[in-house]
Amino acid sequence: GKAKKAAKSAQKQVNKAAVLGAGIMGGGIAYQSAYKGTPIVMKDINDDALDLGLTTAAGILTKLVERGRLNAKKMAGVLNNITPSLSYDSMKDTDIVVEAVVENPKVKGIVLAEVEGQVAEDTIITSNTSTISIDLLAESVSRKDKFCGMHFFNPVHKMPLVEVIRGKDTSDETVATVVAYAAKMGKSPIVVNDCPGFYVNRVLFPYFAGFSQLVLEGADFTAVDKVMEKQFGWPMGPAYLLDVVGIDTADHCTGVMSAGFPTRMAKIDNDPVTKLYGDERYGQKNGKGFYDYG
Ligand code: NAD
Repeated sequence: GKAKKAAKSAQKQVNKAAVLGAGIMGGGIAYQSAYKGTPIVMKDINDDALDLGLTTAAGILTKLVERGRLNAKKMAGVLNNITPSLSYDSMKDTDIVVEAVVENPKVKGIVLAEVEGQVAEDTIITSNTSTISIDLLAESVSRKDKFCGMHFFNPVHKMPLVEVIRGKDTSDETVATVVAYAAKMGKSPIVVNDCPGFYVNRVLFPYFAGFSQLVLEGADFTAVDKVMEKQFGWPMGPAYLLDVVGIDTADHCTGVMSAGFPTRMAKIDNDPVTKLYGDERYGQKNGKGFYDYG
């Protein structure tokens, strides 16, 4: 009721956006915003990450051109809508910022405080965090009414859902603006209340925990994937999905969930995901996780 009312209240027009972090998610968010006509500044601290973000966008567009769903001129236009940057310089006039840096509350806190000092007073700031409480992150910003969660799913250009997470101080106008921007991006947003893991990851991380326990009891992860894919009919099994998510990100998320729900989501001793993380097997992003990628 309350969430629906907020989504219907007055909203601000989003003409220009910014995303912080050009990784799996930041690159995808930049692509999707640009593709649907909202120019976006994509900032990272690492030049290689910016290149990777742009290459990923170009790769998705090339496929669309090859399938005859887009012409080369429109492709150039979409790429032109993404401004890669190592600084906050081109962000002064952005209407909305989506923070998509590493899943670490301390790093996110620093980045959120930093960006708030660089943008206009009425700029909405959001976080694409998977699991960290929005009210906790809101402690790092002073304009708390203009802050909320905007949680996309991976791969951003394919997954319809966006969770808009309302913090205790988030205004109705902020929720309405973020919902409208998600819809403009071609997504189907839902407004959810704040808690660690929000909505989807409250379901997904217990599933990952169940998988980890099964592996610790001796199950072969490839066999689990095979059953979940071939017989149960899901598009991918848990081990492969963890490699897609990023083993590092998944491990950070598990830490947040176990802190948030100490009994139900208690940290698993010798979790195979934590072991892979320790071995620097981060999943598809660095070519090795549960599986090896050539
Ligand atoms: P990633 O490791 O692919 O990318 C993170 C990027 O952030 C890197 O390029 C890094 O250089 C950059 N970065 C680090 N500090 C920065 C700073 N101070 N300023 C700017 N850039 C900085 O991670 P990811 O998978 O894209 O995850 C990013 C966020 O999105 C996390 O909060 C994660 O939980 C969330 N998320 C991830 C998924 C997923 O499936 N991977 C899904 C939904 C949400």
